[in-house]
Amino acid sequence: MSLKLYNTLTRRKDEFVPIDAANVRMYVCGPTVYDYAHIGNARPVIVFDVLFRLLRALYGEAHVTYVRNITDVDDKINARAAERGVSIREVTEETARIFREDVAALGCLPPTVEPRATEHIAEMIAIIERLIARGVAYAADGHVLFNVPAMAGVPGAPAYGALSNRSLDEMIAGARVDVAPYKRDATDFVLWKPSAADEPGWESPWGRGRPGWHIECSAMSWKHLGEVFDIHGGGIDLVFPHHENELAQSTCAFGHSVMANVWMHNGFLQVEGEKMSKSLGNFHTIRELLETDSFGGRKWDGAELRLAMLRTHYRQPIDWTVDALEEASRTLARWRNTIRRNGAGPAEPTQEFIEALSDDLNTPKALTLLLGYGARVNQFFHGGAGADAPRDEEEALALAGNLVGCAALLGIALDVAEEEVAPELKAQVDALVARRLEARKAREWAESDRLRDEIVALGVVLMDGKDAATGQPTTTWELKR
Ligand code: AMP
Ligand code: ZN
Repeated sequence: MSLKLYNTLTRRKDEFVPIDAANVRMYVCGPTVYDYAHIGNARPVIVFDVLFRLLRALYGEAHVTYVRNITDVDDKINARAAERGVSIREVTEETARIFREDVAALGCLPPTVEPRATEHIAEMIAIIERLIARGVAYAADGHVLFNVPAMAGVPGAPAYGALSNRSLDEMIAGARVDVAPYKRDATDFVLWKPSAADEPGWESPWGRGRPGWHIECSAMSWKHLGEVFDIHGGGIDLVFPHHENELAQSTCAFGHSVMANVWMHNGFLQVEGEKMSKSLGNFHTIRELLETDSFGGRKWDGAELRLAMLRTHYRQPIDWTVDALEEASRTLARWRNTIRRNGAGPAEPTQEFIEALSDDLNTPKALTLLLGYGARVNQFFHGGAGADAPRDEEEALALAGNLVGCAALLGIALDVAEEEVAPELKAQVDALVARRLEARKAREWAESDRLRDEIVALGVVLMDGKDAATGQPTTTWELKR
């Protein structure tokens, strides 16, 4: 089976060859947690969830490590905490919890690891020290800056601009606005900056301060995936400067010519031809779409939002419209009714479907296949003899099973009776319950209570007990009725 992925770095669709097929490693930049995520922010989460599922199908569930970070140190977070008169921790905890609930409702599996930037300050400092030692970073005025021109002197390092395909002249022109006096070169970027007394800060060799944004991802990917890993993803707006700078930091610090072998970027979700964004004010939060009638006069369920998203190839822009959601809603209702009324054979994805996804996540082609399966199953059960309708019930049920199995690979559950727990929710609750059990064993009561609130917010009842044999705490759970 060959998997082909478009690589921003080579600007081609390349055959994917993992560094270690027993542990395929992917890093995706996660949210900055200061406010509700909008449906544009959900696009990378859904796209890379589909890739995560595909990699698990191809290499085995236990052989894929997916890291998606939480950026919980950022000036926007400080501003929001001050505005609301609450602590920074309160803003980041609450926003991270809402984000997890929202993306679980969209059918996304939890990543293997969800590191928080504030828990990786030591790794950031270690990388910055290496960069200074190699002569590509300097301390000035309480700041530490990456010196872009010095990168050319680091043996084996790629050229700065290689990922975003920009020339140095372009970047200098872009950076000329508002050059801070402590910068040696206009293109230099911040690795560490000083914190005022009322700003969050950590002790460092350069005084009390906090990290720049780019260094966070170099540190977290290093800690959890190693110096070089397979896939690095995010939205197209992250290519420059964020990913270009991550690449510069990691290659110079670790002495490799690459950070990740494949760089993948999703296109924008747009409203009337413009990027959906907080700053343009043309956004709909995931929460609003799930829980209010503000878009198209009705609530949408997570699978409808997801299906509408996957109709478009991930590198193309999507126009977010009520029409597209209504069409997704009708399709989903038709598929689910068919499965509920007639049943389905084993949930097996088909080879042709896996091949469509393996061609740089060609979800539009994959969905065309699904529409064909659904139509053929319906031809059998509800009359209308098409030339390729199943010949007997066995064949019809097998095809219905294919439909369920393929949809599941896209993260869309077709076979859930309303009262059942969706598999993503189950995975999420199980993970949280396990973490809370660890906290209880370690007698970390505050953390255990915090996790309990997070679990209860998912609509779950917890039952704590003790194992009769070992005396160890146990926890079971069920959905709130
Ligand atoms: P931000 O909170 O702006 O850092 O964005 C978080 C993630 O969402 C990043 O991977 C962005 O590239 C992505 N993103 C933001 N806006 C959009 C959009 N309108 N369409 C697609 N992806 C987006
Ligand atoms: Zn990042």
